[in-house]
Amino acid sequence: MKNTDELAGTLCHEVSHTIHHDTMTLMEKRQKIAEREIGATVLLGPTRAQFLAMLLLGKLHSLSYSRDVESRADLTGSDVCAGAGYNPWGLVWLFQDFQNADMGQVPQLLSDHPGNQNRVDTLERHFRSNPSVFGQFNADPKSAAAISVPKNASEVFLR
Ligand SMILES: [Zn+2]
Repeated sequence: MKNTDELAGTLCHEVSHTIHHDTMTLMEKRQKIAEREIGATVLLGPTRAQFLAMLLLGKLHSLSYSRDVESRADLTGSDVCAGAGYNPWGLVWLFQDFQNADMGQVPQLLSDHPGNQNRVDTLERHFRSNPSVFGQFNADPKSAAAISVPKNASEVFLR
């Protein structure tokens, strides 16, 4: 992330998944699959169950958020950012950075290549149709405040 608004945009996007209960919905889906997996172990015995478990693990892996869910979190995220006084264009800049980045370097957390341009378009439409909320913010990334970390800040690694 190149500036404070991109960082804020990321956090606002993630918070919006919680606001929309996306995290709970995904967990419930995963829970249902896990229950089926346990049922399969009981019914089929360990060998066939292991085979099924492998299939189900693949299914679990594919159960990330859909494009629609991501786009919704982008929109609410931009609302949250604007409400908190951060520039909601930070999210747009982030996706534009992804678009231009070497894909090997982009974190999978937010990136949805080639959906990035779609997400930018959707956000820009949202900004245009709500000028009273978004009109005050500068679309130019050069206007953004650089991320500054105090020199004596300690590094904390979360496990
Ligand atoms: Zn997301």
